[in-house]
Amino acid sequence: MKQKTLFISFGAVFLTVALLCSVLFQTIEGYFLSAAPTSTEAVRSPVIILDAGHGGEDGGATGTNGVLEKDLNLSMTRGLAALLRLAGYTVVETRTEDKLLYPAGTQKGHKKQGDLSNRLAFTEQYPNSLFVSIHMNTFPTPSCEGVQVWYSQNHEASKEFATAVQSEVTARLQPSNHRKIKAATSNIYILRHAKTPAILIECGFLSTPAECERLCDPLYRQELTLALFAAISEKTALPT
Ligand SMILES: [Zn+2]
Repeated sequence: MKQKTLFISFGAVFLTVALLCSVLFQTIEGYFLSAAPTSTEAVRSPVIILDAGHGGEDGGATGTNGVLEKDLNLSMTRGLAALLRLAGYTVVETRTEDKLLYPAGTQKGHKKQGDLSNRLAFTEQYPNSLFVSIHMNTFPTPSCEGVQVWYSQNHEASKEFATAVQSEVTARLQPSNHRKIKAATSNIYILRHAKTPAILIECGFLSTPAECERLCDPLYRQELTLALFAAISEKTALPT
């Protein structure tokens, strides 16, 4: 995929601002003024840590059209970071470039673990945070579709955030998505070890041609981003 398609264009940013105003208005009207946030005190005003999965020599999954997961992940986190910052959230991104996060000089064979450890370290650096990892799915059956959300079992709020994301995506974009949120096991290192609320969002299946094409469409990614933004804003209060 050409690099220029991976980043939000000026026009898209303008559209994002317009859509953000709409979502914010609905959020304020329908939520902040009518009900107190239901999440625990510890996550009322969290730093939002956005984690674009993979990077550098680790491309992640390859789409049916050749797109690399790492690039779509980064495009999603950058768009979501922009929205959240516009709304007043404090946002930290684990990566803003095409690279893994292992320390310089890490030996071959230890790079993946070094990368994961450094991503996890963000949750330790920001104890009052929500960790949102963005990935794309793949499966041998080329008809699988839809967002799938995983949650860490170490903090009760993780499940609340996962539920909010899954239901916002279903309500706004994927009415036929009947996937249930899933508790992460030891196979998802960061969610297994994070002490803070943490979720991992598989945004769709790159192994399914139609969904792969959708995920390559900046406008679709923006719609997805808005659903994620709505879910996060439902379960948190803006920092004061
Ligand atoms: Zn991945």
